[in-house]
Amino acid sequence: MTLRLMNTLTGRLDALEPLEPGHVRMYTCGPTVYAPAHVGNFRSFLFADLLRRYLAWSGYRVTWVMNITDVDDKIIRDAGREGVPIGEFTARHADAFLADARQLRMSTPDVLPRATAHVPAMVDLVQRLLERGHAYRTEDGSIFFRIASWPAYGRLARLDPGQLRVGERVEADEYAKDDVRDFALWKGPRDGEPRWETAVGPGRPGWHVECSAMSMAYLGPSFDIHTGGVDLVFPHHEDEIAQSEAATGQPFVSIWLHCAHLQMAGQKMAKRTGNIERPTDVYARGISPGALRYALLAVHYRAPLDFGDDSLAAASAAVARLSTLLGTLDSYREAASDDPDLPAVLAAARAGFAGALDDDLNVSEALAAVFELAREINRRIDLRRLSTGDAARAAAFLRDLDRVLGVIVAEADELEPELADLLERRSAARAARDWEASDRLRGELASRGVVVDDTRDGQRWRRAVEVGGG
Ligand SMILES: [Zn+2]
Repeated sequence: MTLRLMNTLTGRLDALEPLEPGHVRMYTCGPTVYAPAHVGNFRSFLFADLLRRYLAWSGYRVTWVMNITDVDDKIIRDAGREGVPIGEFTARHADAFLADARQLRMSTPDVLPRATAHVPAMVDLVQRLLERGHAYRTEDGSIFFRIASWPAYGRLARLDPGQLRVGERVEADEYAKDDVRDFALWKGPRDGEPRWETAVGPGRPGWHVECSAMSMAYLGPSFDIHTGGVDLVFPHHEDEIAQSEAATGQPFVSIWLHCAHLQMAGQKMAKRTGNIERPTDVYARGISPGALRYALLAVHYRAPLDFGDDSLAAASAAVARLSTLLGTLDSYREAASDDPDLPAVLAAARAGFAGALDDDLNVSEALAAVFELAREINRRIDLRRLSTGDAARAAAFLRDLDRVLGVIVAEADELEPELADLLERRSAARAARDWEASDRLRGELASRGVVVDDTRDGQRWRRAVEVGGG
C-alpha cells in the first residue's frame, strides 16, 4: 500500500511519490508568536506531526520544516503595548509555544526557521520577482506581487481570478496598489516599525513571502508536502504558490494538505472572537497532555472537530485503556506456552492500522484497529493464555504503534517522581507486610489521581479517569 492524500491542489486523493525517492520533504506554516497558541492551533500542528511520524514509521526519511513568524503587524502592535523590544517579546512567545508543543509530544521539526533570521532569502526572492516583471514598487517603498502577471493564480482555492477579492476589505497598510488583488511582498519603512536596510530598499517582509523563502531555503524550489489550517488556503497559500513559481519557474509543492477547524460550543476556535482554550486551561481541568493530544488527533483532519468536555472525557478514557494495557503487559508473567494465534492477531492489527493511515490518514479507523487489538489481548490476559514472551511481544508491538500516535507510552511509563516515590514506598510496605501503611499510601495515591491495583503480578497503577459530563 502507498499513502494517498487528499490534495487540495488537485482536489483528489493523490499517491505520495516523493521527488527524491525515499525522502519526503514537508513544510508546515507555523505559529505567529505574539500570544500563546490555543488548542485549535495545535490541532493543525499535531496533524502535521502525525503525518511526519507516520511517514517515518513507514520507512521514509523525512525533513520537516516549520516556520516561526516573529515579525508582523500583531507582533509590532502587542510588543509596543507592552513596551518591550520585539525580539524579547517574540522570544518569550516562541519559547512558550515550543514548551507547549513538547508537552503535547509534537516531534520537533528538523528546522524551525525564524522569519527575522531569513530576511536576505526573502529579499532575494523579491528581487527575482522584480526582475521577471511579476512585482512592482509603490511610492512609499513597498513592493507588490502583480497578480495580473500570473494567470494560474486562484488554482489552489479554485477562484476565478477576475472575481478575486472583490468586496474584500483592503488592508489599511496596503498603500497604493495598482490592483486591489495584489499582495505585499515587501512593506516600505514606517515610523515605529522594525526595518531592514536591504538591496530592495528599507522596510520589512510581507508575511506570504516569508513561507516561500524559508521553505525553499531548506527544501529546495520543489518539494513534496505543504500543510496548514484550512483558513490558509486563501490568500496565504495561493500567494505562496504564485510568488514561488513565478520566481523559480518550477512547480512549488506536489501535495497541499489542509486541516479543518476546531470548534468549541459550535463556533470556530479563534483568537479574534475570544472563543479559545489553551493547553494549560485544559490541564487545569485535570486532563493530561496525552489525553489532549489524543482528543486533537482522533478525528480525521479534514473533519471539523467538536472540542469540549465530552471529547476530552472520551480521550482520557481511551488513553487510560491503552496505557493500562501496556502496564499490564509489562508486568504480566505466565509460564504458559506461546499463544499460537498471537502473531496473526498482531499482523491483522498492523495491517488495519497502516491500511487506514495510508487512506488519507484515516486516524479514527486506525484507532479502531488498535482498540480491536486491545480487546483481543485483554481477553487473552484474562484467560492467562499469553506466555511471558507473548506479553513482551504485544507490549513491544503497542510501543511501535505509539511511535505514530504518541499517546500510550509516556502515559504508561511516566509518573511524576513524587508519585513514583509513593508507589515505591507502598511496594516496600507490602513486602514488609505492613498493611496499614500500604492502605494509607494507596489512599494517598488515589487522592492524587493514581489508582493502584494489586494483581498476581504485583501492584500496578493507572490514572483515575473521570468520565461524565460537566
Ligand atoms: Zn505560511
